[in-house]
Amino acid sequence: MSTKTTLLDYERSRRKRDPVADAAPLEDGYWRRKKLTEMSEREWEALCDRCSKCCVISIEDADTNELYLTDVSCKLFDTKTCGCSDYANRKQYVPDCVKLTPKNVPKLDWLPRTCAYRLVSEGKDLFWWHPLISGSEDSVHDSKASVRNKTRPEGRLKMPGLIKRITRWPTPLEKPPAKYRRRRRVRA
Ligand code: SF4
Ligand code: SF4
Repeated sequence: MSTKTTLLDYERSRRKRDPVADAAPLEDGYWRRKKLTEMSEREWEALCDRCSKCCVISIEDADTNELYLTDVSCKLFDTKTCGCSDYANRKQYVPDCVKLTPKNVPKLDWLPRTCAYRLVSEGKDLFWWHPLISGSEDSVHDSKASVRNKTRPEGRLKMPGLIKRITRWPTPLEKPPAKYRRRRRVRA
C-alpha cells in the first residue's frame, strides 16, 4: 500500500499571468463555458470549493488499486479553518504535496469525485454547495462535503494506524437546506 498526500496551488501561477484577465470580475457560470486550460488565474482559484478532501491522507491498495480515504490529514492541515496552515512553505514540510494543473487534473484519479476541478475536467457542472453557485463560503461545510473539524493530524501514525483510520465520509446533501433556497429566491 502507498499513501498519497495531495494539494492544490492557489497562489503559484501555473502559467504566465494575464493581469487584465485576472483583474476582471468572475462571469456567472464561466466554468460551464471554459475548459480548465482557458481559465484565468482568478477563475482557476475561484474554482476550488475549499472542501479540503485533497488534504486528507488516502491509502491505495497496490493489488486492487482501490483507494481508501482516512480521517487523518496532512500534518500542515488546520482542521478548524479547513485549510493549509503554511501554504507558502508547504513544500519544505510536505514534499509530496501535488500541485494541481489543467494538465494533471484529468490524470489524478485520487481526486474526490466532488472536486470542482475534476467535475469541470469531466464536463460536469458544480454542485449546489459550491460558493460560486451558493454565494456563500459556508455552504461547502453545511453540505457535509468538507472535512472541517472532522480530521486529526497524521502525527506519528504509521501504516497500521492509518489503516485503522479508514473512514467512509458522509455523502454530501443532495439538495440545499432551506436557508440556501431562501437566499436564492431573494436574489431572483
Ligand atoms: S475542490 Fe478539489 S482542489 Fe479544492 S479543496 Fe476540494 S478536493 Fe481540493
Ligand atoms: S501541505 Fe498544505 S495544501 Fe498540501 S496537502 Fe498538506 S495541508 Fe494540504
